[in-house]
Formats: sequence, C-alpha cells, structure tokens
Amino acid sequence: MVVVMAPEADQADIEAIVRLVHSAGGEAFVSRGVSRTIIGLVGDVDQFGALNLRSYPGVSDVVRISVPYKLVSREHHASRSVIRVAGVPIGPGTLTVIAGPCTVETAEQTLTAARMAQAAGASLLRGGAFKPRTSPYAFQGLGEVGLRILADVRAETGLPVVTEVIDPASVDLVSSYADMLQVGTRSMQNFALLQAVGSAAKPVLLKRGMNATVEEWLMAAEYIAQRGNLDIVLCERGIRTFETATRNTLDISAVPVAQRLSHLPVIVDPSHSGGRRDLVLPLSRAAIAAGADGLIIDVHPHPAAAMCDGDQALTGDDISELGEAVKTLPQLLGRQLTPPLEPAMIG
Ligand code: PEP
Ligand code: MN
Repeated sequence: MVVVMAPEADQADIEAIVRLVHSAGGEAFVSRGVSRTIIGLVGDVDQFGALNLRSYPGVSDVVRISVPYKLVSREHHASRSVIRVAGVPIGPGTLTVIAGPCTVETAEQTLTAARMAQAAGASLLRGGAFKPRTSPYAFQGLGEVGLRILADVRAETGLPVVTEVIDPASVDLVSSYADMLQVGTRSMQNFALLQAVGSAAKPVLLKRGMNATVEEWLMAAEYIAQRGNLDIVLCERGIRTFETATRNTLDISAVPVAQRLSHLPVIVDPSHSGGRRDLVLPLSRAAIAAGADGLIIDVHPHPAAAMCDGDQALTGDDISELGEAVKTLPQLLGRQLTPPLEPAMIG
C-alpha cells in the first residue's frame, strides 16, 4: 500500500501517518520527491485499511498495490513517466539515443567519439571512467581523470554525460561531474549502491542484471525509488542464456513487459547485448520496433585499439546507417528522435 501525500502536506502530517502505521504493526518508508512525498507501507493490508488513512490531513491518495515493487509500478503511477537528463527527455513519444565510447581513454578519443555520437543522432554522451571489469587485470578506467575529460567534452559538444558508478563511496564524486548515474549489470543487486544512488540528486540508468528476472530488476529500481529518487531509466542489455553466438541474448520482450509493469522508461543496449558490431544496427531496429524509449550505443574512433569492448563499437563508417534508422523508424510508430539540447539550454 502507498500513501501519496498532498504537495502542501507538512512534516507533522507525514509523522502522523508514520505513527499510525507503526501502531498497526507495520513499517513506513518515506520517499521525498521534488514535488511530493510518498509513504510506502509494509505489513497487514487489512489493518491499514481499518486506519482510514485517506481521512487524515495532508493525504491525497491511498493506493493498494499488489506487486512487490510499489513506487515503480504502474499500479502506483498509471501513465508512463518521462525522465529528464539535464533537460533531455527519455520516455513515451520519443526515442533518445545515448552514445559514446565504452571507456574514456584520452581526451581526443572521447571528443572524437562524442562527435560520432552526435552524427548518429545522440543527444546524450556515454563513457565509463570507473569500469566494472570481470578481470582484475583488465583496464579499470581513468577514474576522476576520466570524469574530467567527460565534463570537458560536454562543454565542447553540449552533450550531457551518462557515466557508471560502481561503489557507494564514489557516488558523490561521480555525481559532481555526471548528468546521469549508470548502474551496470554487475551491480544491479549491489543494494548499498542502489540506496546511495537513490539518495543522489541525479537520474539513474539502471541496467538489468545479466541473470536477473524482470521482477528482480524492478525490485532493484524500487531500492532506488524508496530512497526518494524516482528519476530512473531501465536498460535491457542482454541476459545469460545457453546461446554462445552472441555475448548475451537481447531479451526484446523485456521492453514491453517492463513498460507494462512499470511507469519507468525502458531503453536497450544493443552493443553489450550482441557484443558484435554487425549486430548493433539490426538489434537497434528491433528495439525501436518493440517500443524502446531509447538506445545506448558504443562508438569508438579506432575500435581495434580500444581498451575495452572494441568488437562491439561502431566505427565512423557505421554511423550514417544508424543515424538514418533512428531518424526514420520512430516516425513510423508515431514517435520522434530526441533532438540535442539547444545551445542556450546548456548550463
Ligand atoms: C557499460 O555500459 O559500459 C557496461 C559495462 O555495461 P554492462 O553493465 O551492461 O555490462
Ligand atoms: Mn563495455
């Protein structure tokens, strides 16, 4: 059950509800959003019903929710949400492209990749500075030096930055440079990290764990929401199956399934799904057709020399075909490619 407080509700109104819930033997989780506060109730629903919470001051609505994830469910919020990343929308009606290098290597490589991203129709720049590598001997990313490069490239190109954070202790540092915090597949059930990004004032891109069910993925999103941050975008990036022809298996049905269960936008990563450059275009087309709200794509000026994931990075030669697909296909489905920010809006 969820209690939605009215915008004018004050602290005393909220505390009164929490006390009542406790008196009924339940637990109350208070999530403070920018415009309103939501209280998630855990416990005996019949006991809560008897409290008649709707009659208390400051309460705007009480919603009974049957799924285990509450704040991110469509039972709580029926219409699909639009999440803004430094002003760039991700959600229904648009297709938003995020592109850039898997890993920030040098200033020149990142700027060139950002220019490629723009040519492919991207309105947001991706790039990892903290890399969650399977091998401890693999390149772990440039850390803060990489974040600084991303900020410089943002200043040069006007593209807001999406970058990964891999531990709770770095959330403040990464937030001070990034426009959106990425939680990777390997971190999807790092609950301390989910809570830390849930307390951050930045939108979050939550990738699906490679072994996670859709429900587990939505529960991970709930951890973030429960800390008061509802600016979450879900990203399907392929799951582990018996198939070895591709790096992961893109679960295309997860797009409409997650969109029906949750109000959060759902995007697709065709690069990490297939793990092969030649699959990025067909998987991107499939994602658009399935209704994905966006794409996140690896590009690199010299993939053969890339420090990470060169096999799946698009080169300059592949960009125009992708640019064409992201411009033309969404229109067939009544949607539009999200344009880059106007220079005047970049602050
Ligand atoms: C990435 O996007 O750079 C990345 C590491 O992706 P994933 O977490 O999906 O493997
Ligand atoms: Mn990668």
